[in-house]
Amino acid sequence: MKIVKSIKKIQQSLEKERLKGKSIGFVPTMGALHQGHLSLIRRARKDNKLVVVSIFVNPAQFGPKEDFKKYPRSLKKDALLCKKCGVDFIFYPDAKAMYPKGYKTYVSVEALSDCLCGKSRPGHFKGVATVVAKLFNIIGPCTAYFGQKDAQQAVIIKKMAEDLNMSLKIKVLPTVRETDGLALSSRNVYLNKEERKDAAVLYRALNLARDLIGRGQKNSRKIITAISRMVNYKKTAKIDYVYIVDLENLIPVKVVKGRVLVALAVKFGRTRLIDNVIIESVKLKTQSAKLKLKV
Ligand code: AMP
Repeated sequence: MKIVKSIKKIQQSLEKERLKGKSIGFVPTMGALHQGHLSLIRRARKDNKLVVVSIFVNPAQFGPKEDFKKYPRSLKKDALLCKKCGVDFIFYPDAKAMYPKGYKTYVSVEALSDCLCGKSRPGHFKGVATVVAKLFNIIGPCTAYFGQKDAQQAVIIKKMAEDLNMSLKIKVLPTVRETDGLALSSRNVYLNKEERKDAAVLYRALNLARDLIGRGQKNSRKIITAISRMVNYKKTAKIDYVYIVDLENLIPVKVVKGRVLVALAVKFGRTRLIDNVIIESVKLKTQSAKLKLKV
């Protein structure tokens, strides 16, 4: 496994591999790797001849009051994990190389970037889309792997790739969770004991939405009220948003029909966590009908 900092060098190395006909699987990350990242890396390993992981804490996606400086960084540990998973290259550029003096070009995926997390983090998805577009250009992957944990990000990247005619596949893999349901996140290390305990409510709340929809509740407002009540019950929790949206345009739906995304962002103390589930109302209804028949 090679760790490459230089943009030119990684491009040269990967060009050689591409000429040999090797398919490249790519996993973009900000490091502080956990099992969620590793699930993407393992899948990339399974699907491709060559696996590239990027580790880059991207300043362009952090707001001025956000945690860019204190974001956890652990290259040594990350490199060991990558090696164990059979990664071929870690691309580890520095900010000056990615955004040299005079840098001017940004990618903005309209509308999709302004809702949900985009509302509370203005400019965040412009930073994400820009860095991912740059990374795609540098690495030239056949397939790039993303987590469902960051559902809005996945929708935006897919749209960007489609709109800009990028010739790669985007695969989105399921969220990896702790045993109590908390989605793994590099930011979980910020939580104190009480906040960590309270944070398990997020997945319980999403499951409550699943149950309600499964039992035939279609009124989004009522589902959101029930979820919010459950989360607000926790002392350290402060809701940023709870939305039920359609999966393509991320527009809030009043009535739950077909597949919807239930997404939330909640602060525990100073740590903002996000989570989501996709719920298919029709399927759940059929399942519950089958159960009733069995009884
Ligand atoms: P990050 O390092 O937070 O930018 O995440 C890099 C990639 O890992 C993104 O595609 C995330 O969606 C994905 N990811 C983060 N947490 C999880 C998780 N718990 N399960 C699955 N994928 C994840």
